[in-house]
Amino acid sequence: MKRFLAVMKFGGTSVGDAACISRAAEILAAASRKGCVVAVVSAMSGVTNKLIASAVKAETGDRDAGQTLADALREQHVTALDALVHSREKRDSISRKISDVLAEAQRLCEGTALLRELTPRTLDSISSIGERLSAPLVAGALAELGVSTRSIEATDLIVTDSHHGSAEPLAEQTRERSEALLRPLLQKEVVPVITGFIGSTADGVLTTLGRGGSDYSATILGAALKADEVIIWTDVDGVLTADPRLVPEARTIPEISYREAAELAYFGAKVLHPKTLRAVTEAGIPVWIRNSFRTENLGTKITPEGGSDGFGVKALTAMSDVALISLGGPGIVGVPDVVGRTFSTTAAVRANVLLISQSSSQNDICFIVSSADTNRTVQALRDEFSQDLVDQAVEHITLDREIAIVAVVGQNMRGSPGVAGRTFSALGRENVNIIAIAQGSSESNISFVVARKDMKSALEAAHREFGLGLAERHSSNPAPQGIAAT
Ligand code: ASP
Ligand code: MG
Repeated sequence: MKRFLAVMKFGGTSVGDAACISRAAEILAAASRKGCVVAVVSAMSGVTNKLIASAVKAETGDRDAGQTLADALREQHVTALDALVHSREKRDSISRKISDVLAEAQRLCEGTALLRELTPRTLDSISSIGERLSAPLVAGALAELGVSTRSIEATDLIVTDSHHGSAEPLAEQTRERSEALLRPLLQKEVVPVITGFIGSTADGVLTTLGRGGSDYSATILGAALKADEVIIWTDVDGVLTADPRLVPEARTIPEISYREAAELAYFGAKVLHPKTLRAVTEAGIPVWIRNSFRTENLGTKITPEGGSDGFGVKALTAMSDVALISLGGPGIVGVPDVVGRTFSTTAAVRANVLLISQSSSQNDICFIVSSADTNRTVQALRDEFSQDLVDQAVEHITLDREIAIVAVVGQNMRGSPGVAGRTFSALGRENVNIIAIAQGSSESNISFVVARKDMKSALEAAHREFGLGLAERHSSNPAPQGIAAT
């Protein structure tokens, strides 16, 4: 009989120190008693940032950056190792592995310092060090609990294109390698502990999947192995109805659809890497988000349909690190190329446009970009429209940084009239002025722009309006099959 297979990913905070790693190992050991388990691990929290900072420092010519980095990481990982693994022999073997990986990191930084050049390929190799250090530690801790395990680098499993810094997996080749390497281990009830975040091109050059990419690694491997479920263990209780720092009544959503979760990830709810669900969409594998520090909570289950409740509003999200750019004047009415030129310009400077709104009178188009993209976007627009500004065909290009986007998300809002009306009436009662509105025709998201000072009241008002904080909306969820009793 085919045994239940779960892929479990542990984020940086869930493997942040020895205590966290033993907790992760306990979760894996419990799951391995009930079925097959594949573990995917992030770097210990903060490590990837340190690696990147050292690489950047080395690029300035700092020859000591590599040594300083290796010393700090050795201290951190060996401290955890000593606390986790008691047999001398096993400790020595993991410690040798740690030294080898750190020696490589040091050489990469020294080479970078010598050349004063940091290529995307080298940056990937340096960034990958954290996962290559944490996987042997997690495997070591798991072995302490009597589980047979093996630590494996995902460069042997996940085949990607050569887009360094955000490589895309090649599904078929990844499936073949995963089957060949992992299936025999699973049949022998071995728990593979795999580095998240990294892969390699078909000819063996290391790549990374992008910051936070270990979530994606987990679903890529889940899909490759046709797993029954993927569980993302993190430090929050799943996907919440809103950011609890802004809306204290926020609650965990028991079930949400792929699409809704992706929508939330896009709008800055940082629970999931935005690409995570792509890998499992076709196979429809459920993905759980759970808190490794509070295993009694079931967290959120992400499924193709997402269950339904109430008016279909599932969650609210907000982004404040953004700015509103508007371009307009009566002169743009009926000038067909203004919109085209505007967005060719944003594309040329690679600004990520988060929301667009244009009134049908065409007096004004406004759109939102993230704060980091603002200056170069405005500059490029002023250049593009310089003649039109002189001729006053375009009267203004203005910028407002004191704004926020709030989005109401839920795929079943589609065809459920009144959601927009209720949202805006609720905001009206709180005296929140709406600067711009956008709803895509998919209707799974209504986004609007408010002054940044109004963001919190807008979120609270909409949260209350749709009863998102009410316990009865959140009926209980069946436990993940593989881990019902953790
Ligand atoms: N360690 C990588 C990062 O910090 C990948 C991950 O944690 O998902 O971005
Ligand atoms: Mg992370």
